[in-house]
Amino acid sequence: MKNTDFNKVNELLQTPKRILITSHTNPDGDAIGSALALYGYFKKKGHAVHAMIPDPAPSFLSWMPFYEDILVFSLQENECLKAIKEAEVLLSVDYNNLNRLSKATIPAKESGAIKVLLDHHTGPSNDFNFLISVLGTSSAAELVYDFIIESGDKHLIDKEIAECIYSGIVMDTGSFSYSCNYEKTYLIVAELFKTGIDGEYIHRLIYDTFSEQRIRLLGYSISEKLVVLPEFHASYIYLTKAELDRFKHQVGDTEEIVNYGLSISDINLTAFFYEKEDMVKVSFRSKGSFAVNEIAKKYFNGGGHRNAAGANSFVSLEKTIRIFLDLLPLYKNQLAKVY
Ligand code: 5GP
Ligand code: MN
Repeated sequence: MKNTDFNKVNELLQTPKRILITSHTNPDGDAIGSALALYGYFKKKGHAVHAMIPDPAPSFLSWMPFYEDILVFSLQENECLKAIKEAEVLLSVDYNNLNRLSKATIPAKESGAIKVLLDHHTGPSNDFNFLISVLGTSSAAELVYDFIIESGDKHLIDKEIAECIYSGIVMDTGSFSYSCNYEKTYLIVAELFKTGIDGEYIHRLIYDTFSEQRIRLLGYSISEKLVVLPEFHASYIYLTKAELDRFKHQVGDTEEIVNYGLSISDINLTAFFYEKEDMVKVSFRSKGSFAVNEIAKKYFNGGGHRNAAGANSFVSLEKTIRIFLDLLPLYKNQLAKVY
């Protein structure tokens, strides 16, 4: 861990503290995996710990160890406000700006807790007292592993904590297909296996537990809603609220749809748009050198990683897609020469 404030954070946690671990809205596997791994670890260390997310996680994450202990702000507001108020340390993992806590943003910002960041996205906000912000790592879960190791606590990584870390790495790398082109991630995974985790079983729990409606929504999205723009090496898929309702959409059912637009040969950029109650959720994926986090930030006030980024758009679905289509000519040359 080549990072800044590790020693200060370690010093801060030498005595038992009331810690609130938080992760981002629309939580993904890395958000939940890294938060729960920290939760298990801090409990073992004797801290009083809560983990909190702004809104519910998809069902394919709910098998994870300690999941039943997570507080969800949109469902348990009073309990969450109490946890925020009582926290001495507010630890943000897998996101780097308190604005990504949705309705918990203001209470979190107003909290008197020492704010600590453990994250792998570019450009952390100035919400934090201590920063452990490491780029070029597969996942926040990998950072959690490094954090525990640096703290001299490798022996505390048991099977449950290892399952959380492993799941975070698997899901933030698309099952080891991106953001892990280095030896270290695999060495960590090898260490995790030594605790007795069952990687094949975890894979099934994450990827082979679709509802019938979810797999039909995926089929529909690809066969009916995928638009391919070969001249720009780009593609996109969009879903309206009515379409999601038709497939009795549940939280998480749209995950992974975005990836299919990128699996086409010569397509280097893809986007996925879907209508929510009060906004349009946008996801971008790209191949190689084409940086979608810059696009997400510049045109949609979002962020993420070079090859996987997202944003919320507060104009209509049509207008959101228009913004995307209008930016393609500007990137035509870059999109033609991805390395
Ligand atoms: P996804 O497309 O799967 O929702 O997100 C892909 C990546 O982009 C994740 O690393 C996620 O943290 C980031 N991301 C998604 N939505 C937003 C957003 O609204 N704001 C920012 N800053 N990052 C986002
Ligand atoms: Mn992550």
